[in-house]
Amino acid sequence: MFDNLSDKLDKAFHVLKGHGQITEVNVAETLKEVRRALVDADVNYKIAKDFTNTVKKKALGQDVLKSLKPGQMMVKLVKDELTELMGGDAEGINLSGNPSVILMSGLQGSGKTTFSGKLANYLKNKKTKKPLLVACDVYRPAAIDQLHVVGDQIGVKVFSDKENKNPVDISEKAISYAKENGFNVVIIDTAGRLAVDEAMMTEISNIHTAIKPEETLFVVDSMTGQDAVNTAKAFNDVLNFDGVILTKLDGDTRGGAAISIKSVVNKPIKFIGTGEKMEAIDVFYPSRMADRILG
Ligand code: GDP
Repeated sequence: MFDNLSDKLDKAFHVLKGHGQITEVNVAETLKEVRRALVDADVNYKIAKDFTNTVKKKALGQDVLKSLKPGQMMVKLVKDELTELMGGDAEGINLSGNPSVILMSGLQGSGKTTFSGKLANYLKNKKTKKPLLVACDVYRPAAIDQLHVVGDQIGVKVFSDKENKNPVDISEKAISYAKENGFNVVIIDTAGRLAVDEAMMTEISNIHTAIKPEETLFVVDSMTGQDAVNTAKAFNDVLNFDGVILTKLDGDTRGGAAISIKSVVNKPIKFIGTGEKMEAIDVFYPSRMADRILG
């Protein structure tokens, strides 16, 4: 049996070739396979449908039907289109400020604290960067402790104040502290909730307005599938964030959330999280993700 889309398409076209003319109808049938594969990979149905319609037009325009290996040509077309949809080339983060302030947003459990540590470690290893981690979850003392554990692990200073219940104030004090002590990147880990709610949105929006970060990153668990899109939209409506971090890609998800999120909020996915360890961070490459989604 065939367990990946490339094989399926190859086989489908092979069969078609053996039975007379390959027609537009056949192509449409075959693209149903593509749509099914995308939905299986957690891509939103409407987005998958729009996508296959685009591919269909291109396929007919490019004379895929007349080529010797239509299956392979179709796979390439699908892959190129997916890559394009997810943003073309890998994008970096803006670190032009001194200090550069990076604000993390996202639901509780999405992987914000872990990613804050990973990013600090990643930047610290670049030698020219001296990051400061800031604990702004004023509701869960355990979250502050968790950031300290992470900071100790990677040898990065953590700024926190368990007595202070005002995250805007903590952020501002942390930035002043960074300026006075030669930290050139400030990574602010904020409080999340289990679901989008107004209090959380107001709080993160207030921090955002007060500190005007260079980069506002939205962290999302790739295992949450369709919900990831709604959450991304809710955060983007309030923060107009700069980029997305897709975590937990070491799980068994195909990563279709990457396509859905990019389609809905039109912001680049900048990094991915591929494990619990501090080293499990990668720059996001759309073409690699397209390979993964296609199986
Ligand atoms: P936060 O509430 O958004 O700060 O989320 P945490 O950083 O505390 O992460 C929630 C859980 O997900 C923790 O158990 C992390 O170890 C785990 N986690 C975070 N990122 C990844 C990842 O990329 N892969 C895996 N497998 N687990 C992750």
